[in-house]
Amino acid sequence: MDDSTATGGTTTPQTAVAAGEGFTSSTAGPGAASDPGPPSDAPDGGLRAAVPTQAAGDRVARSGVDAAGTPPALRQALERIVAPERVLTRPAELVMFASDASVYRMLPQAVVLADGVDEVRGLMAHARRSGVPMTFRAAGTSLSGQAQSDGVLVEVARYWRGVAVEDEGRSVRVLPGTIAGRVNLALARHGRKLGPDPASISACTMGGVIANNSSGMCCGTEQNAYRTLRSLTFVLPSGTVVDTAAPGAAEALERAEPDLVAGLRELRERVHADPELVERIRRKYARKNTTGYALNAFLDFEEPLDVLTHLLVGSEGTLAFVAEAVLDTVPVLPHKTTGLLVFPSLHAAGAAIVPLRDAGATAVELLDRPSLRAVEHLAGVPSYLPGLPDGAAALLVDLATADPDALPGLEAGAQHLVASLELVVPGEFTRDTAVQTQYWAVRSGLFTSVGAARPSGTSVLLEDVTFPVERLADAVVDLAGLFEQYGYDEAVVFGHAKDGNLHFLLTPSLNEPSEVERYARFMDDLATLVVDRYDGALKGEHGTGRNIAPFVEQEWGTAAHAVMRRLKALCDPDGILNPGTILTDDPRAHLKHLKTVPTIETEADRCIECGYCEPVCPSRELTTTPRQRIVLRREMVRQHVEGEAPSPVLAALQRDYPYLAVETCAGDGMCERACPVDINTGVMMKAFRAAEHTAREEAVAAEVADRYALVERAARTAVRAGRLTARAVGDRLVVGMTDLLRRALDADLVPRWDAHMPPAAPPLPVTTAAGATAVYLPSCTNRIFGPDEGTSLPAAMVALAARAGQVLHVPDDVAGHCCATPWNSKGYTDGAALMARRTAEALVRWSDGGRLPVVMDASSCTLGLRGLGPSLPADLRARYEAVTVLDSLDYLSQVLLPELTVDRKVASVAVHAVCSVHHLGTASVLEQLAGAVAERVVNPVSAGCCGFAGDRGWLHPELPAAALRPEMAELAGEQHDAYVSSNRTCEIGLSRESGHDYRSVVHLLEEATRPAGYQA
Ligand SMILES: Cc1cc2nc3c(=O)[nH]c(=O)nc-3n(C[C@H](O)[C@H](O)[C@H](O)COP(=O)(O)OP(=O)(O)OC[C@H]3O[C@@H](n4cnc5c(N)ncnc54)[C@H](O)[C@@H]3O)c2cc1C
Ligand code: SF4
Ligand code: SF4
Repeated sequence: MDDSTATGGTTTPQTAVAAGEGFTSSTAGPGAASDPGPPSDAPDGGLRAAVPTQAAGDRVARSGVDAAGTPPALRQALERIVAPERVLTRPAELVMFASDASVYRMLPQAVVLADGVDEVRGLMAHARRSGVPMTFRAAGTSLSGQAQSDGVLVEVARYWRGVAVEDEGRSVRVLPGTIAGRVNLALARHGRKLGPDPASISACTMGGVIANNSSGMCCGTEQNAYRTLRSLTFVLPSGTVVDTAAPGAAEALERAEPDLVAGLRELRERVHADPELVERIRRKYARKNTTGYALNAFLDFEEPLDVLTHLLVGSEGTLAFVAEAVLDTVPVLPHKTTGLLVFPSLHAAGAAIVPLRDAGATAVELLDRPSLRAVEHLAGVPSYLPGLPDGAAALLVDLATADPDALPGLEAGAQHLVASLELVVPGEFTRDTAVQTQYWAVRSGLFTSVGAARPSGTSVLLEDVTFPVERLADAVVDLAGLFEQYGYDEAVVFGHAKDGNLHFLLTPSLNEPSEVERYARFMDDLATLVVDRYDGALKGEHGTGRNIAPFVEQEWGTAAHAVMRRLKALCDPDGILNPGTILTDDPRAHLKHLKTVPTIETEADRCIECGYCEPVCPSRELTTTPRQRIVLRREMVRQHVEGEAPSPVLAALQRDYPYLAVETCAGDGMCERACPVDINTGVMMKAFRAAEHTAREEAVAAEVADRYALVERAARTAVRAGRLTARAVGDRLVVGMTDLLRRALDADLVPRWDAHMPPAAPPLPVTTAAGATAVYLPSCTNRIFGPDEGTSLPAAMVALAARAGQVLHVPDDVAGHCCATPWNSKGYTDGAALMARRTAEALVRWSDGGRLPVVMDASSCTLGLRGLGPSLPADLRARYEAVTVLDSLDYLSQVLLPELTVDRKVASVAVHAVCSVHHLGTASVLEQLAGAVAERVVNPVSAGCCGFAGDRGWLHPELPAAALRPEMAELAGEQHDAYVSSNRTCEIGLSRESGHDYRSVVHLLEEATRPAGYQA
């Protein structure tokens, strides 16, 4: 970290770093670097990051080892173990991985993307030899600082994915990099799911879940990884690999690791010989607890192998590497009744927890008054929240069952109980999913509200403590007192009340030394409260990490702590795995490596670096994820301290940022859908693109918009000429020619020719306005590109409509009209505004002031058209509001399909729901349509944004190639009769990467309903 002595920093928004400063478009593909060009004039409009006036304590050192990236000797040593392209050494690559979801930040000396057990063993051997420690990192969603390292960070997610459902869903075999939510998708058709249910399930991995012993609102202490583990394959720091399910595994372990096995026996005897310790372990594990190592393994198991296997659960990568696991699954409980019970006081709520649990509640979530206040402004929550009295508290209760017949009984029991409770609002259980959604919006909106409302420069601390359930109400009152004492006025308390597991959110500014000291004193008092007053646990779910390591002895006592230390020494005698996590000698370790949060562009400033957005980002395995784009930006700001000379680190980051972040962002906004605080990182990237444009480029873009009808015609001609040339001289030569142009001009402007470039579009079908039931605006992609063979999409659409008794009218003057997305995505504001106005005017006219709906045949254009309003002048906006834009999926399902007869179904069809379909909320409609024409519909669980993003897939073909790799691998085993989607450019990318002909679902429906002997 930094070589400067300052430990804090303040920011002044008045002095600003231009957002695009030094960003220059690189001219080549992955890893390409270009000189940082001169600063450009970035526009205002919130797109400015504040310049710190003081150096932040955690910024990367401006000179020396950190500034230069990985030391050469270390890099060479690692490259002897792992292929060089999987050893990340540049400053930007190290910064990208320096943060996890915690309030800590450590810069690794190198990041290695490990692939396979042999590489892990090699890396362990290197760590033993060199003394440079290593830490495993999966999804990096940990909250206690356990997924970080200032040694070698070993990424074990990317090449460690795989799920095999076994025993008809009763168990599941997983590789550790598999996202836990994807495992549940694979199990869903068996009516089963994983026991562990962390709220982060859509982002975190199985390795992380096992290593943290993660849990959630339902799993309690009975369905966590510790309890549901069947077998494990692990690698010890010595290099010994153990598959616990293999015959003779226990004997093999004893042969390979006699000292370890003897030490485990000795420790087990020590524990059993200490009745006080035995009682303490039993008592602590009757509740949720992830402080320290899972000492209950010494009581629950006898064989050293079993003891060790279960000690590894929750060991946070400090004892061994988890290479594979088999877990028992639990039934999905699809039938549920839900109640939101509002009590006059915390004590009244606390008193109801045990009776509700005994009545069969599967989830009981407590929300204190500040929590309810934090969400009362949100849409979709019950309207009575603002009027609740001070001191009120709520319990959100689910009773769920697999048996629909059991539900009425459960519900009646709960309702009977509720009748005896003192409530502020009449309490009622309901099976109505709309009301259930409203109730749960209270809980799910909490993080968003607190995270989004916090002042710039503050962190979000999500703490996780456990109290005896029967004393929960007292504990919450005491916690509130502690917040008041320390001035944490924003604190909210909520959590899994049935397990006594509470979370609280604080938003301190850890940029300031005084704030760090406040936090230090608060943590000391918190430990006293939780441990000494309630004998609770300082961590119930999130793992000990660096955060609680200094308090483990206080919580567990000397004897237990000594057992833990001995265990670590037995498994990892050289201390190579994740030092400082779980155990530490430093009583102030939790106050070191704290992350500062410099103010950056408003679009992303509230980012809490949680990592939820990473799995959905199409560039995640090519360049950066949304979180990494933000993390890099924050470091750039840390580097740019007022009055200081530019640093080499800043220059290195500016050199890499254009390609790593800006150019390879598809701009699809899928990150926003996953983000708990609603950040669309694509908006920031587009703004950076806009900031890079010169006045001349902006003018050219506006000119293109102005003369778009001509451009369309020219594009058709160019496509035709390109294909002719390619036919004459070969695709490779044309590719070479475009590559030359891309290097000479700009890889972000000149598309790369490829052999999958479709042919030019045929003329649009001739229609008439007379008797029209809808206007049809074929997207400009479908006006430029035609089908490889057969009927064009506009012709198929018009024919299908006619078959259903509808009359579609394609206006004669559609050329030159577009949804403006191409300009918006590149950040050309003038061109976008011009096109928006023109198209909106035309749609108002064509639709007869909104009398006729407008059908669009590409989902991303539907989204674009629906979003034109804000860029229109007020009078036009008002007229445009009357226009209804129907996506082809809606038009097909709502208007055409009910009037059609499907004569022939194909056996199977693979669908790909594009990002815009997710934004439009119609992904299920695509599946329904496919289901209408196919016996079997396959929707790959690894499907996400294809990365083609209009023309970005031509500008950067490596982006869709990387984005689609998992989906294509999933589909590779089977051949389907058809491959469908609803967006032409995405279909081009999908076809290119898969080798299958992806087409609009319109074609499939048209073919399935086409009368024999007819042509479309
Ligand atoms: C907003 C938010 C909400 C959360 N909610 C919950 C919740 O409800 N419940 C809960 O329990 N947690 C929760 N978490 C914490 C976190 O998401 C989980 O603990 C998760 O299981 C971590 O998984 P990961 O893949 O991100 O692992 P990482 O954070 O990458 O790593 C976790 C630990 O596991 C180790 N590790 C990773 N892979 C391996 C491996 N193969 N072998 C050995 N060690 C390995 C790492 O070294 C590290 O110590 C939440 C986090 C966030 C940001
Ligand atoms: S952008 Fe959102 S989802 Fe991504 S890390 Fe930041 S807060 Fe989390
Ligand atoms: S817009 Fe898409 S590509 Fe860009 S950061 Fe978000 S998810 Fe990634």
